[in-house]
Amino acid sequence: DERQVLQFQITLYGDDERLLMARDITRLHRLEQMRRDFVANVSHELRTPLTVLAGYLETYTDIADQLPPRLARGLGQMEAQTSRMQNLVNDLLLLSRLEIDRRGDDEAPVAVESLLEAIRRDAESLSAGRHRLLVECHDPRQLVGSEQELRSAISNLVFNAVRYAGDGRHITLRWRTQGDAACLEVEDDGEGIDPVHIPRLTERFYRVDKGRSTATGGTGLGLAIVKHVLLRHDAHLEIVSHPGRGALFRCVFPATRLSRPSAVALSSQA
Ligand code: ADP
Repeated sequence: DERQVLQFQITLYGDDERLLMARDITRLHRLEQMRRDFVANVSHELRTPLTVLAGYLETYTDIADQLPPRLARGLGQMEAQTSRMQNLVNDLLLLSRLEIDRRGDDEAPVAVESLLEAIRRDAESLSAGRHRLLVECHDPRQLVGSEQELRSAISNLVFNAVRYAGDGRHITLRWRTQGDAACLEVEDDGEGIDPVHIPRLTERFYRVDKGRSTATGGTGLGLAIVKHVLLRHDAHLEIVSHPGRGALFRCVFPATRLSRPSAVALSSQA
């Protein structure tokens, strides 16, 4: 659209002096919009060809045992890389939807405990018995938001813990009260992260160890997705970690996002 976008900044000097600055950021705003649309369109267009490729590869995998070993290995590689590309395209698409779509369209009170239980079950299959996954629910309130978006944010945190904490570790999914607010936490007692990396972790494609995270199947977009989902829920992410002492990812939701479960919901849970 042709609207002009202005940015204002007020600076206080002492008790009675103010400096007001206005900046015309129309061009910047438009470029940013073009970048978003471009990423959304490209990811969308890449989806169909990738689905077709993956479909053919799957039919060939069925007859892999009839192929010479070298070809069968190549086929395995092609499948793995195609699925990596699919994950990447899906994450890019999700991220641009989070930036473009109107927020709040599918918001409703979410029963946090059952959401965490569902995510734990998914993570169990990724972990294949290599971790101990626990759910702790200390706050009876529901969280008002988009269940789908919250599920992808929390899943990203839990799947990261499964990928990076190391075998034999504990992973806890926790919903607890903090003053008037409430927190969704994903904590592990694994390898942890050097604090120098923490401020940049939610940037797109930022990784502590590039080789290792591509090997584990990450896209580099997980924490960027988490950050955007939380922004849309008036929430923010805190990360506490030290090498060798585990990692804690805390999503803090304001009181305005919390609701008492209805009597009907309570009795059906009992
Ligand atoms: P990806 O996992 O695809 O690389 P993310 O944005 O989800 O991208 O995570 C960014 C980086 O943060 C990871 O590459 C990893 O180095 C680090 N990380 C995330 N979660 C943990 C964790 N629980 N323990 C240790 N490192 C982690």
